[in-house]
Amino acid sequence: MIPHSKPSIDQRDCDEVLRVLRSGQIAQGEEVRKFEDAFASFIGVKAGAAASSGTAALHLAMTAMGIGKGDEVIIPSYVCSALLNALSYLEAVPVLADIQPGTYNIDPVDVRRRFTRRTAAIIVPHMFGLPADMDEILSLNVPVIEDCALSAGSRYKGHPTGGMGIVSVFSFYATKMLTTGEGGMVLSNNRPLIETIRDLNDYDGKPDFSVRYNYKMTDFQAALGRSQLNRLEGFIERRKRIAAIYTEALEGMGCPTPVVPEDRDHVFYRYILSETPFDFAEEMKRRGIECRKPVFRPLHRYLGLPGYPNADSAWSRSVSIPIYPGLADQEIDLITDSLKAILG
Ligand SMILES: *Cc1c(COP(=O)(O)O)cnc(C)c1O
Repeated sequence: MIPHSKPSIDQRDCDEVLRVLRSGQIAQGEEVRKFEDAFASFIGVKAGAAASSGTAALHLAMTAMGIGKGDEVIIPSYVCSALLNALSYLEAVPVLADIQPGTYNIDPVDVRRRFTRRTAAIIVPHMFGLPADMDEILSLNVPVIEDCALSAGSRYKGHPTGGMGIVSVFSFYATKMLTTGEGGMVLSNNRPLIETIRDLNDYDGKPDFSVRYNYKMTDFQAALGRSQLNRLEGFIERRKRIAAIYTEALEGMGCPTPVVPEDRDHVFYRYILSETPFDFAEEMKRRGIECRKPVFRPLHRYLGLPGYPNADSAWSRSVSIPIYPGLADQEIDLITDSLKAILG
């Protein structure tokens, strides 16, 4: 079976983790600081604070921004439930916006409709590796939190995702663009904000008591992160190459292919087929290929809210096929042959 997702761990990654494990210094220390600096400088942002997950990074970022009980935060419906969890920790109110049909990204026009006096921020995920409409979103004049869990290395009009909002958050979960097993990062050009986040995430040795967290990354995870970061450009090249092969096969059959507006760079975290027959995933499975729904369940369905037609149609019709740097050439061949057999 070709799995839907798989991390790419090589000998250098393993050597780096072992080096730190053998050093005896394994909790948060110098390695985490080096990873924060390297990652911030890769994205082109002044400072970074590592965390134990993307969800934790989001919780810390919003806490440091002063978002709390009763504040409304606009998020898309078509995204994983991590965003809903982070808002729940803060007792903030999620306000869901619909997505654009082609790009799966949050629709700035629908965002504007959902503004109230209590709107505190918008969380903008760059879905599946394709940057959202940042100019339109930034022109709304509400604090923007970029969610780059799926978009590390992608660019909007030449600007890396993660450098355009007030803060950005990343996830280094096993199967994201780069991994530390579990892990996350907040980036910002606002150094005091990053210092606040570091303070919130380190409870020991404080003169005062106020609520803090323990969402720290370990030094051996950070060593893996830095090794993965060195490989990220290569990962992205490989993902783009595989995407080009799928697109060529689909175009040959007259099937729709992923939308990539000219002013942005898609890193193809996912390759999504937007209009599949209902038994497509079953047919692929029969041929040894695991496919998934890109989002398990849109958030408006968890919350029982009507009125998200684009999220609903993405949910019912879209399927994600395997795409990751470790996919072998003969596996790619099997996948394209299967696409031709089922859709051709
Ligand atoms: C994975 C993901 C997160 C959460 O990251 P974790 O590290 O799993 O907590 C947040 N937002 C998006 C868009 C994600 O894909």
